[in-house]
Amino acid sequence: MRIVDCHVHLNGEVSAADVVKAADANGVERVILISKPERVSTRQTRDNMLYASKLAAAARDRISALAWINPTLPGAAELAAEALESLGFVGIKIIPDHWYAYEERLEPFWERMNSLHASILFHTGILYGNDDGSRFCQPLYLEKLLHYPRIRFAMAHISWPWCEECLAVMGRMRAAANYDPKGWQSYVDLTPGTPKHIRKQAVANAIAFCGVERIMFGSDSTLPGTLTYQKQILGSDLQLFDSLRLTAAQKERILSGTADELFPAKR
Ligand SMILES: [Zn+2]
Repeated sequence: MRIVDCHVHLNGEVSAADVVKAADANGVERVILISKPERVSTRQTRDNMLYASKLAAAARDRISALAWINPTLPGAAELAAEALESLGFVGIKIIPDHWYAYEERLEPFWERMNSLHASILFHTGILYGNDDGSRFCQPLYLEKLLHYPRIRFAMAHISWPWCEECLAVMGRMRAAANYDPKGWQSYVDLTPGTPKHIRKQAVANAIAFCGVERIMFGSDSTLPGTLTYQKQILGSDLQLFDSLRLTAAQKERILSGTADELFPAKR
């Protein structure tokens, strides 16, 4: 079964060969890496992007990259355009960092992402970092993006503890697209965060409400390293999918099909 991990952090230097080796050990076909986070410097953001871009270029069929960008940095829209048009990135990663997605000052950025047909992975849910930044990461604020219908986006961590709010946003975006799957902008990323006592219910609810076509597997593991965390998360999610009696086709959609649709590999 083809497996794509849509959410792996890059936090230092690593070779493409090592990434492929670590993924091979877990049976993962394609790793979608996120360039190193940077909150304040445009130049550092770009340096981090260039590093991730080179890594992905060294093994295009196995490694893809998302460009970590803070949209409030000067030149952020230009960086995103460069990432998607010239540097081979398959999407953008954003954590709302003391700004709300609905703010007027962000409209030019969303407008540019719309014209680029950008796919964006958002951190949503409680945030163990960025000081007291969690409140900016409530999924509801992403409703703003319905004004930019060519942007597609995923909400990471099923937005825990706002899993129901995440599904409400999914429903809102589905209705905004007049129930046409081609126009439905939003997706759910299953990365960890939901505690054991609710994970099964949270995943079952997401599948029941949105369908497996909208849901994708991600581990939220970090490189450099051996990706043992990816193996652990993959193992527990596979067990969960079995306990939910998903068919092989449903599993494959969550494990790879959805990520391949939202973040198609670049040649
Ligand atoms: Zn993450």
